[in-house]
Amino acid sequence: MDRYCRNVTFSGIGEEGQRRIEESSVAVVGLGALGGTIATHLVRAGVGTLTVCEHDTIDVHNIQRQLLYTEPDVGRPKLHTAVEALGKMNSSVKIRAYDEFLDSNNAERILGGADLVVDGTDRMGPRYVMNAFSVAHGVPYIYGGVLGGYGMTLSIVPPATPCLACVFPPSERMDHLPTCADVGIVNTVPAIIGSMQATEALKVIVGGPHSKDLIIYDVWEQTFDKVPVKKRPGCPVCGSG
Ligand SMILES: [Zn+2]
Repeated sequence: MDRYCRNVTFSGIGEEGQRRIEESSVAVVGLGALGGTIATHLVRAGVGTLTVCEHDTIDVHNIQRQLLYTEPDVGRPKLHTAVEALGKMNSSVKIRAYDEFLDSNNAERILGGADLVVDGTDRMGPRYVMNAFSVAHGVPYIYGGVLGGYGMTLSIVPPATPCLACVFPPSERMDHLPTCADVGIVNTVPAIIGSMQATEALKVIVGGPHSKDLIIYDVWEQTFDKVPVKKRPGCPVCGSG
C-alpha cells in the first residue's frame, strides 16, 4: 500500500477504492496521444490488469504529443515500445497486449474480461465497436476525442446512461469527420482529455461521482462546457432500434 499512499490518503479513493483499482481489469484501445496518457495514469494508479491494443508504428510527427515515445523509437511498433515503457512504470500490473486494430471481429477476444473500456482511438469505427461491446456486456466505456484546440469526453455506464450511438448516431458523415491530420492538434489537448478520461475511469472503478454530461474543453478558447445528454429511445444499440 506504501506505493499507493497518495491514492489511499485521498478520501475519494481510500483503502477500499485502492483495493478495487488493484482488482480491476481495464482495456485501453489505441496507444497514441490519448491512449498513452490514459494507460500511463492507470498503470501508475495500480490497476490489476491492463489490456492494450494498437497496430501502428511510431512516426516522427507522433512525438509532438504522444508522450510514451521518444526519437529512438521512430519506426518501431507502438505496442512493443508502449508495453516496455508501461512495464517500467509499474511492474506489478499484468499487461495483455494485442498487436491489432480493434474491429467487430476481434472485439470479443480482445475486450472480453475487461471491467472497463477506455477509448484512445481517433476514428468512429472502433468507437462504435467499443460502444456495442459496452452495451452488450454492461461494461462501462469512457469515450474521448480530440481535434485542433479542443477535446471531448463522455462516460458511458450502461444501462444507466445514454450510449455513444445515442449522442453521435452512426451516419455517413461520422465516417468522414476531419482528423488531426487535416486540421492539426494542439499537443496539450490529448494529455488533458486523456487525463480526464483516466480520472473518469478511476471514478467508475471506485464507485465515485463520474460525469453524466458530455464534457467539451477548448484549451485555445479556454471554454469548458458540460452538455447534458439523453438516451434516444430509437437508438440502434441501446434502444428499440
Ligand atoms: Zn444508445
